Amino acid sequence: MFDVWKVRADFPILTQKVNGKPLVYFDNAATSQKPQIVLDAISQYYSEINANIHRGVHKLSQLATDAYEQSREKIRNHINAEHAYEVLFTSGTTHGVNLVANGFASILKPGDEIMVSALEHHSNIVPWQMLCERTGAILKVIPMNLDGELIIDGFVKLLSEKTKIVAVNHISNALGTVNPIKFIIEKAHEAGAAVFIDGAQAVPHLKPDVQDLDCDFYAFSGHKICGPTGTGILYGKEEWLEKLPPYQGGGEMIKEVTFEKTTYAGLPHKFEAGTPHIEGGIVLGTAINYLNSVGFENIQKYEHELLEYGTNKLLEIDGLKIFGTSKDKTSVISFNLEGIHPYDVGAITDKMGIAVRTGHHCAQPIMNFFGIPGTVRASFTFYNTKEEIDALAAAVKKAQLMLA
Ligand SMILES: *Cc1c(COP(=O)(O)O)cnc(C)c1O
Repeated sequence: MFDVWKVRADFPILTQKVNGKPLVYFDNAATSQKPQIVLDAISQYYSEINANIHRGVHKLSQLATDAYEQSREKIRNHINAEHAYEVLFTSGTTHGVNLVANGFASILKPGDEIMVSALEHHSNIVPWQMLCERTGAILKVIPMNLDGELIIDGFVKLLSEKTKIVAVNHISNALGTVNPIKFIIEKAHEAGAAVFIDGAQAVPHLKPDVQDLDCDFYAFSGHKICGPTGTGILYGKEEWLEKLPPYQGGGEMIKEVTFEKTTYAGLPHKFEAGTPHIEGGIVLGTAINYLNSVGFENIQKYEHELLEYGTNKLLEIDGLKIFGTSKDKTSVISFNLEGIHPYDVGAITDKMGIAVRTGHHCAQPIMNFFGIPGTVRASFTFYNTKEEIDALAAAVKKAQLMLA
């Protein structure tokens, strides 16, 4: 049985007071808090095996290399990649998008098309725009509807033999919408396009199966799944990773270097230039173990309860409007109070120890679509409680009284 109070005891930060009130942390879509086992693993790495990897014959270097590669294997297993060398360590989702977009510069010709969606985070828009500038490719945008869902007919209509890559998120960070990526991947493949999935908001809630999805790339960040900041994963199908050129040059990624010519190392090292975030990569494996020990079925069921409870509770407030009303969504509630700027709501809830995100959530096109400056976003995770949602609802009511 899932016991939220038992789980909360794993997170030391949750016991603290903020502005004299117990911390209510509802900014989980921006970054997650870390359980003690993750904090311990960071300290254990530096106090016991810290050394550079893949180079030394000495004992510590071997221990660090083994731990790093075991973590890669753990993550391979978690996302069901076929090969460990298809699992690249990155600094986060942003790094993953840029690595792939940069690689496609060698593939695209003027007039080729890149497709993103109206629901993307800036990090899955801007690198593709930069790629368009470099190559003369054209950016197409899958439209969305007022529920914050992608319009799938619109997507199918935009597809053509010119489409070379479709880059969409699995789940929207701003609205929580779960996108029908399996269908999108299938249709894109029929048109001969590759598919990049931004999984940053999906991996906290589910275990992606990259072989079942049949995506060509899948990227996510470690810090949103209880792991350290500056860590992430880019999964790429072997054939694509072989085809794309390296992103960065340096140590670790070469086979042989002379001043006349350098040959590159095989996968995954071709894409992992320089000394990586060794501790981060190892501890990301610890974080994924932790989430699996809580159990994704438990997480989904409980988060769904929180979403329903929170939605009903907040909708009791007059003049509160929720943005993102897809039937298929995760535990994110983006809302505004009529006539009140989201920033002002966030400033008042903060005084009451409640952390929510206010603003455009790195997704300005979505805010433009709704014609709003931003929203207040409460994103719940498995360590949140209904009592905390009650506190949020009370704080929002209070903000409304003060600001009206
Ligand atoms: C957080 C997020 C990103 C960016 O992740 P970084 O960790 O900042 O690189 C990209 N896409 C989505 C959907 C996100 O939620």
